[in-house]
Amino acid sequence: MRLRNNTSTQGGLRCENCGMPITLERAYVRVINGERHYFCCEHCANAFEQRHGGV
Ligand SMILES: [Zn+2]
Repeated sequence: MRLRNNTSTQGGLRCENCGMPITLERAYVRVINGERHYFCCEHCANAFEQRHGGV
């Protein structure tokens, strides 16, 4: 899993589940359907994954 990305977030990264502002360094990264998604915590990752039918 690649965690390094071009730092093109410009401080606009947010948890994709609850919308809480997060930083790349602290983001909880989960790969769902082959794409990386960023969350504030594992709980949000799980909730998002359930809603989006992640296998
Ligand atoms: Zn969250």
